[in-house]
Amino acid sequence: MIFQFTTIAFLKNLNTMIDVCPCGSESFYTNCCRVYHSKSETPTTAEQLMRSRYSAYSLRLVDYLVETTHRDKLKSSYRRKLVATINDIQWTNLQIIKTSFGGVDDKAGKVLFEASYIEAGESGVMSEHSRFRKIAGKWYYYDGKGAR
Ligand SMILES: [Zn+2]
Repeated sequence: MIFQFTTIAFLKNLNTMIDVCPCGSESFYTNCCRVYHSKSETPTTAEQLMRSRYSAYSLRLVDYLVETTHRDKLKSSYRRKLVATINDIQWTNLQIIKTSFGGVDDKAGKVLFEASYIEAGESGVMSEHSRFRKIAGKWYYYDGKGAR
């Protein structure tokens, strides 16, 4: 029994490793957002963090989403709410529309994106202007405003 479960977990893992990254980069997950999720690298631009957070939503990586939220905006209920809702939405596509600042030498940045999803059998698209800020050389999600 234990062997079977291990095999399934292993195959799932392997499958994720050879899959194309959910962030839409067309790179393999292993060479893309996984390096941020596994903490072997830190996103150097706001857009990289944005993409890696989208992938984290897609792969239900709650810890990563909590850890990359700016401390001034991190509410105590954030994790609980995330855990309660993260499985309700299946993210299907990410499109970065516009990026301003958020570069390697910037301290803040903005990313306008459109994310497609399926929720309760209905497909939809959400647009958001997300703001990002850097603390001690690391990018964090600050807040977001709906673009439509
Ligand atoms: Zn990616």
